[in-house]
Amino acid sequence: MKDDAAKTDMIIVGAGPVGLFAVFEAGLLGLKCHLVDNLDRPGGQCTELYPEKPIYDIPARPMVTGQQLVDDLMQQISPFDAVFHLNQQARDLERMDNNHWRLTTSRDEVIEAPIIVIAAGAGSFVPKKPRYPDLEIYEEKSIDYAVHKMAKYEGKELVIVGGGDSALDWVLSLQPLAKKLTLVHRREGFRAAPDTEAQFKQLVAEGKVDFVMGNVKQLNGSDGQLSSVGVETTDGEFVEVDCEYLLPFMGLKISLGPIAEWGLNLDRKHIQVDMTTFATDVEGIYSIGDVCSYPSKIKLILTGFYEAAVMCHAAFKYAFPDRKMATGYTTTNTAIQERLGVTPTEK
Ligand SMILES: Cc1cc2nc3c(=O)[nH]c(=O)nc-3n(C[C@H](O)[C@H](O)[C@H](O)COP(=O)(O)OP(=O)(O)OC[C@H]3O[C@@H](n4cnc5c(N)ncnc54)[C@H](O)[C@@H]3O)c2cc1C
Repeated sequence: MKDDAAKTDMIIVGAGPVGLFAVFEAGLLGLKCHLVDNLDRPGGQCTELYPEKPIYDIPARPMVTGQQLVDDLMQQISPFDAVFHLNQQARDLERMDNNHWRLTTSRDEVIEAPIIVIAAGAGSFVPKKPRYPDLEIYEEKSIDYAVHKMAKYEGKELVIVGGGDSALDWVLSLQPLAKKLTLVHRREGFRAAPDTEAQFKQLVAEGKVDFVMGNVKQLNGSDGQLSSVGVETTDGEFVEVDCEYLLPFMGLKISLGPIAEWGLNLDRKHIQVDMTTFATDVEGIYSIGDVCSYPSKIKLILTGFYEAAVMCHAAFKYAFPDRKMATGYTTTNTAIQERLGVTPTEK
């Protein structure tokens, strides 16, 4: 059997600020990391929820925005060549015969390592799914909850469902390349930026986008490929709309997702850890950042950074008991400076 699995020292689930800083601490010890995140870019809550808001409690940074902090973390970890698996959820975890872990993502990418670090924050942001009959038959081929490559929709008949920013933004972006685009929304009002809404209404007025007020009730097609959707309009009529791809944008919810099935000791939505090592109750699995819980836990970025440092030392000793650990100060330890690619300081 061909083994396509990527092999590394540490797999970090979650590329929020804490997962990113774990790459740095692991890198100082000479460990290589792969990160998996459901989002399409690193940064977690900082970039997803408050990129432009100022943060005032990062040590020695009197003020830094969420996006700046993440940009600087990315720069700080750049010497360590971490591999990012974005746009995918960490799904299945199994222990192998050599005691290493094998992680499979929702895009069927496989990574193996002796150390798993769960830095999943509040959980992954996952799309709310509509309740259409036969939904799962079409999900693989014809229904997308996120746009990964716009070119996929070139010359296609598209139906977008929703009335928020995502739905209307994607109407504006995909309309120029789609063969035909219809927006289905259950009412006249929208929850989108006024300018976006105005541009959408202009496209409808120009006949470039069709707007159907109602609810999708029927999916029609064969072998998972849609040909049309049946919509019950708010006037009580039933209309059939041509559709090769259906894109429901009905908002996101935060969920711990598959991690909840990995047999860890959970305290509601948090993973309980030993606060001296940040080890979970399963050997080789560690947890840091907002998702972990222990007495005196404070959910802050700075505590997550501390947890990352302590965890990396503990995980190194667990996974590589025979290897010498290069500990010391970045100011004076030449082995660490070589890893960072910086010139050793003058004596
Ligand atoms: C509005 C707001 C303001 C804030 N202000 C401050 C502040 O001033 N100071 C401060 O210290 N903190 C602040 N916080 C809190 C801070 O953002 C969090 O403490 C921090 O983001 C936690 O980092 P994390 O890396 O643990 O988790 P997160 O930032 O939540 O990142 C976790 C990542 O894991 C991913 N993920 C989860 N599960 C999976 C899975 N199964 N597969 C793949 N990916 C997964 C998620 O997509 C996410 O990207 C604020 C939070 C908010 C919402």
